[in-house]
Amino acid sequence: MKFRHVLTGLVFTMGILAATALTSLAAIPTGRFESVNSTAVCGWAYNSSAPNDALTVRISITNKETGEEVFSQQVSAGEYRQSLYNKNKGNGCHGFTLSMDWTAYPAGSYLVEGFVGDEEFINPMTYSNGSDSAQSAQDSQGTQNADGTQSDKSQESGTGLVPLGVFKTTGYCPCKGCSEGWGRHTCTGAIAKAGHTIAVDPRIIPYGSKVMINGVVYTAEDRGGAVRGNHIDIFFDTHAETRMHGTQNAEVYLVMS
Ligand SMILES: [Zn+2]
Repeated sequence: MKFRHVLTGLVFTMGILAATALTSLAAIPTGRFESVNSTAVCGWAYNSSAPNDALTVRISITNKETGEEVFSQQVSAGEYRQSLYNKNKGNGCHGFTLSMDWTAYPAGSYLVEGFVGDEEFINPMTYSNGSDSAQSAQDSQGTQNADGTQSDKSQESGTGLVPLGVFKTTGYCPCKGCSEGWGRHTCTGAIAKAGHTIAVDPRIIPYGSKVMINGVVYTAEDRGGAVRGNHIDIFFDTHAETRMHGTQNAEVYLVMS
């Protein structure tokens, strides 16, 4: 009997040790960029040992030519992301949107890095200032953010954003193939503008709604035969930009005015 007690104690101790090891493994926070564009840096950070905590992340931007860190700022990652919630990442409130004014920096190539605790984000980004594009330094799939060339300024405050979840985004342009001869004429009568016009399923997003995608605020003012449900078609000036955008998934926010 005594031997059995020792054995039970030993098994118990080993169980505690294993649990401790697992916990310490799981306790490493992870962070990831969602997008870097001309107006904002978006991403999320999460620690499974504190699944409902909003972590603080630090965003660092380095001029690739000079090696100089030109920007360093801490931001709380507490925005709700439906996709994180769906992946059982606690309460899903782990996203951040940091407004960026790239016009304050000289044109050139910038490395955008994120840190959460001692951990670096797994997908550092490269932003080409002046050409309005960003891509992940590690991303070989070529998912480039070819968002509109301009953006409305109304998203600066970052307040009044209602998450609508993840949408499929595609692009279209005035060409015959994309717009079947309608050119820039939208179904609401507005003339389509890049960085402004999106086509939506009006049952999901009513016409006139302001919608933020990757930090750019668009207006829902068109529709498309193939645009149904959680799908948004983003207007571009050229078919080359349309092709570059391809098909992406993005967190979409309704901007309340
Ligand atoms: Zn086209």
